[in-house]
Amino acid sequence: MSTHYPPEAPASEALLARATAVIPGGVNSPVRAFRSVGGTPRFMSSAAGPWLTDADGRRYVDLVSSWGPMILGHAHPEVLEAVRSTAADGFSFGTPSEHEVALAEEIVDRVEPVETVRLVNSGTEATMSAIRLARGFTGRSVIVKFAGCYHGHVDSLLAAAGSGLATFALPDSAGVPASSAAETIVVPYNDIPALEAAFAERGGEIAAVITEACPGNMGVVPPQVGFTEALRRVTREHGALLISDEVMTGFRCSRAGWFGLEGPYAEGSPDLFTFGKVMGGGFPAAAFGGRADVMALLAPEGPVYQAGTLSGNPVASAAGLATLRLCTPEVYARLDEVAHTIAGAVTEEFTRAGVPHRIQWAGSMFSVFLREPEVRDYTDAQDQDTAAFGRFFHGMLSRGVHLPPSAFETWFVSAALDDEAVETILSALPGAVAEIG
Ligand SMILES: *Cc1c(COP(=O)(O)O)cnc(C)c1O
Repeated sequence: MSTHYPPEAPASEALLARATAVIPGGVNSPVRAFRSVGGTPRFMSSAAGPWLTDADGRRYVDLVSSWGPMILGHAHPEVLEAVRSTAADGFSFGTPSEHEVALAEEIVDRVEPVETVRLVNSGTEATMSAIRLARGFTGRSVIVKFAGCYHGHVDSLLAAAGSGLATFALPDSAGVPASSAAETIVVPYNDIPALEAAFAERGGEIAAVITEACPGNMGVVPPQVGFTEALRRVTREHGALLISDEVMTGFRCSRAGWFGLEGPYAEGSPDLFTFGKVMGGGFPAAAFGGRADVMALLAPEGPVYQAGTLSGNPVASAAGLATLRLCTPEVYARLDEVAHTIAGAVTEEFTRAGVPHRIQWAGSMFSVFLREPEVRDYTDAQDQDTAAFGRFFHGMLSRGVHLPPSAFETWFVSAALDDEAVETILSALPGAVAEIG
């Protein structure tokens, strides 16, 4: 039985009108607004397992997974029970609690180079704090980032960022002081000579290189063999720290994130890591951590200030811990399998229809580029047919499949994708691909 929803979505349209009156653009995070694919974003009213249900009562198979966190699917019974029982004991104490200790222990246990970790509320806060710490540790101020990598909306990291900024093709954000941007050097991804040139020129001023462990915010663009090792070698030679942003990949690509797939490294591990998304299980929880001697500079031990009213929130920590404990080797194997089934069907249909495309991978994360040559950096990623992606997106949506609403985003599978959900995706593909035109 194949679904075909009409293009109008009356309840979502009414909610968008209400939202637009009180929230800029009607959304609380820009990519939700559908600007790059057009049309009305669907306002969801509930979710269970692999399904989202919108305000018009229509069901969609979810391939966004809240941009990563819902790795087990929605409202997983055991996570729900952890949330209920923890919330019944109080929502926030403003004191330490065992929940946050257990979550920190789980992270330290999974990612070998992470000796200590501090919990925060968002990936943005994690990268912002890691950068402050790197500056405090080195006594330097310049940060190197890669074009197309997104690290949250931290002022100094919004230069040539991916994600929503790739979607809107904004070169930069207004409101970021020139002084802040001046402390950031942007280098093309996968370009070791460009990195070496930046260090040759300003090595003594550089506090850290921050990189997505495996970029997923310009679509999935894996590091070339030896690239991560080169980052480690060059930063060490110049006394700078290496920050691996695993907010997206952490606990999703593998038990130990991208590090679990690519590390350990002969040249040594990154000094600091940032995490978010999966580790919060759908609640606001994120973290940064790494070398104990660097982390020891944080207040109250050391002089680098960092704090948060709700950091380590018991309910969020319990949801994250329950989620991570359920992310067993069998779950990672299932994620890989279902991702390959879906991507295989995409390739088959696109090939049959003669649509040039390319799929790139990071564990079970993948993205579909509407171009044939390999995508190695942000310039490559931008050279694709984004209008065609919009038509494909709406072809899938009308057939009950919710893809990420941008050609620059990763498709996130969940372990809840069962036969019915997968069948819905497979049967939607031929019609949606035909609509690319
Ligand atoms: C999502 C993301 C962030 C920002 O996390 P928020 O929780 O949205 O602030 C940072 N880095 C990477 C790699 C991300 O994917």
